[in-house]
Amino acid sequence: MAKWLQGEIVENYQWSERLFSLRLKAPLETFKAGQFVRVALDVEGEEVARPYSLVNAPGEELLEIYFNIVPEGPLTPQLAKMKPGDAIKIGERASGFLIIDEVPEARHLWMLATGTGIGPFLSILRTEDVWQRFEKVVLGYSVRSEEELSYRELIEQLLQQHIDQLSFVPFITREKVEGSINARITSAIEQGDVEARTGFKICAEDSHVMMCGNSAMIMQVTELLKQRGMRKHLRRERGHITMEKYH
Ligand SMILES: Cc1cc2nc3c(=O)[nH]c(=O)nc-3n(C[C@H](O)[C@H](O)[C@H](O)COP(=O)(O)OP(=O)(O)OC[C@H]3O[C@@H](n4cnc5c(N)ncnc54)[C@H](O)[C@@H]3O)c2cc1C
Repeated sequence: MAKWLQGEIVENYQWSERLFSLRLKAPLETFKAGQFVRVALDVEGEEVARPYSLVNAPGEELLEIYFNIVPEGPLTPQLAKMKPGDAIKIGERASGFLIIDEVPEARHLWMLATGTGIGPFLSILRTEDVWQRFEKVVLGYSVRSEEELSYRELIEQLLQQHIDQLSFVPFITREKVEGSINARITSAIEQGDVEARTGFKICAEDSHVMMCGNSAMIMQVTELLKQRGMRKHLRRERGHITMEKYH
């Protein structure tokens, strides 16, 4: 049986009608930036548990998860209702391989996220490791509308702190917004729009690509990158792509 840590909600921050961040206290010993924990609530007498990436950096006092309401899902409508002081169960260990330790040597690190898939990258970008290891880091963040582009203040701070190393590429698929690409990640890569922004290419010679979020985006981008001689990274066989599919 799963063992749970007893957590307590400290803040429920609502970004938009369906997007929320929960900040909570729980005695999780440690985790690596990019990992996820299982989160559980009792819903109508049954324990419902789902994995969520941690958005905070390791060592911070509060844990943070970022999620959207899936109306037909059992857990997210309940998570969205949580208030400070409410109890929440957290898995006693974090896990997952979307971490910098699993990324082989490369000059450029590309992080491509759809929606709430931005969470683990924000955790990684708040550690020192990533800035020591890569010459350039690109954060690509795809959402449908401008109001869904959460964590802009944090991203702005990161851009200021790492002005020579970090590029931010927002994709807003259903609205034209100045400064963002009005297309999906896949077509923007195909058209060359992403590389036009960064000034360097996604290629097997010097890039590693981490992807997180919607599995359709991850599969389509993986196919595109295969045409460039890139392949999934495995421990037993070095590659160029690391991924975590949320749904
Ligand atoms: C390793 C891992 C880490 C994850 N981390 C996060 C995270 O940090 N933030 C986050 O929001 N989600 C994350 N997820 C998804 C999360 O675990 C839940 O599936 C999601 O929050 C919905 O929960 P639910 O119980 O309401 O519905 P579920 O019963 O889990 O799902 C109901 C249906 O909705 C689909 N679905 C799941 N997530 C979404 C979504 N975001 N948008 C549209 N449809 C969806 C499912 O595929 C399923 O068909 C992660 C998943 C995995 C495997």
